[in-house]
Amino acid sequence: MPHPNPRGFLEYHRETPASRLPEERVRDYRDIYLPFPKDRILNQASRCMGCGVPFCHDGCPLGNLIPDFNEAVANGDWHRAYQLLSATNNFPEFTGRICPAPCEGSCVLGINHPPVTIELIEKSIIEQAFAHGWVKPDVPEKRSGKKVAIIGSGPAGLAAAEQLNKAGHLVTVFERAKRPGGLLTYGIPDFKLEKWVVDRRLDLMRESGIEFTCDVQVGTDIDASELRSSYDAILVATGATLPRDIQAEGRELTGINYAMDFLYRQNKKVYGEWRPEIGEITATGKDVVVIGGGDTGSDCIGTSHRQGANSVTQITWGDRLPDHRVAENPWPEQPRTLQTTSSHEEGGDREWSIITDAFLGDENGHIRAIRVVTAKWNYDDKGRRLGFERMEETLREIPCTLALISMGFKQPETGSLFEQLGMSVDEKGKTVAKGFQTPSEGVFVAGDMRIGQSLVVNAIFEGREAATAIDTWLKKTAK
Ligand code: FAD
Repeated sequence: MPHPNPRGFLEYHRETPASRLPEERVRDYRDIYLPFPKDRILNQASRCMGCGVPFCHDGCPLGNLIPDFNEAVANGDWHRAYQLLSATNNFPEFTGRICPAPCEGSCVLGINHPPVTIELIEKSIIEQAFAHGWVKPDVPEKRSGKKVAIIGSGPAGLAAAEQLNKAGHLVTVFERAKRPGGLLTYGIPDFKLEKWVVDRRLDLMRESGIEFTCDVQVGTDIDASELRSSYDAILVATGATLPRDIQAEGRELTGINYAMDFLYRQNKKVYGEWRPEIGEITATGKDVVVIGGGDTGSDCIGTSHRQGANSVTQITWGDRLPDHRVAENPWPEQPRTLQTTSSHEEGGDREWSIITDAFLGDENGHIRAIRVVTAKWNYDDKGRRLGFERMEETLREIPCTLALISMGFKQPETGSLFEQLGMSVDEKGKTVAKGFQTPSEGVFVAGDMRIGQSLVVNAIFEGREAATAIDTWLKKTAK
């Protein structure tokens, strides 16, 4: 079918969904975005120029067939668009909501116009597909007789489970938490990803024959070597969950917490799973300082607003990024520009080039302030950071009664699981593997634990690729 409007990019401006007003949305944890009219999505899709060399393919780790599904949407053929989208992406309802959309950073229109709203189009396609009943459990016609155990149910484990089940293998997913989903369920807040979206997909996966065994920590509750003898292959996808800490005087004070400990509790509350014995970390009435940027830092800010913090300040050690691309960061490189999220729009202060000098406590051993100093960064002629100097004359205190450390994640948790499966991590904190195969025969890895802390879209890619590696290995070793 030909493109309905080859001049779409000249006729229509980029439009994105409106969000609920910040003062209204901070009173709940529901999705912040309002529905986007279906007819206007067609116009947005017609902005795609159908480039001969679609750089967006390359920008998307999954290689999504973006110009093709844009054309189908522009023609109003939602079913075809769904077929194209689901050919490469197991969970577009997640990426369509929370992906930072590297595809849009590579969109050719982005050279001199705002790029196509690819993420919004993706979400619209999958929601149309669900509304029309096109998304069905993928029950394989024939079973292979092979059994695969997947440890960890984040996006990497889930994508692998879907692919392996489709290939006919019997898949059991083991998860230590109460519910599957990994960081989709217990990390990312509902105002970005409501949990019915995750549950809807999990129900389909169960109906397609995938088994979930939750509340079981492999390595402790079950010996992983037992799994090795009862399953033909094992995929370990337990994430990179060990947080990076900060070394500064006063670190032992109470009121200094890792971001994930804070977010996990709030997500459990929204789910109705929180119980007093889990313990409380709350921003209510507190002066919150979030140390570090990224998605996790932003999620702490949005959650603190919703819990009724007295003040919220985010401090990051790097310099403020420019609002627009600079000459040293041309298209099609991913833009290195300042990211302002919906949580930032809801309030609070942001400070850059700030080094935490010390945590200061009150007479009860609880944090009362953070002493900070401004950094002066030095760069080489290619814009790479060489190091910083402390500007001692800038030493000052920021009031703080809850500090949230959001400085990324070092590596996977190792311990008994790694011992039992003969696995290890390298000096960069990544799990040692050749491709997806660990040195232990029949044991594979995927996701954040293999590539380091990353994105949902990369975890889905990892799961798909690991599934291919496992399927190939199972066929090769079949007797
Ligand atoms: P995980 O999602 O970490 O899942 C690993 C699972 O393994 C967990 O469920 C864990 O409980 C389980 N597990 C661990 N050990 C065991 C064991 N021994 N036995 C059984 N189960 C075990 N990315 C985006 O693209 N967009 C975002 O907006 C975004 N926001 C984020 C917000 C936060 C707060 C965080 C922390 C990350 C965010 N990310 C985001 C990153 C993204 O969530 C991760 O890259 C992705 O979830 C990694 O997937 P994974 O499957 O490798 O691991």
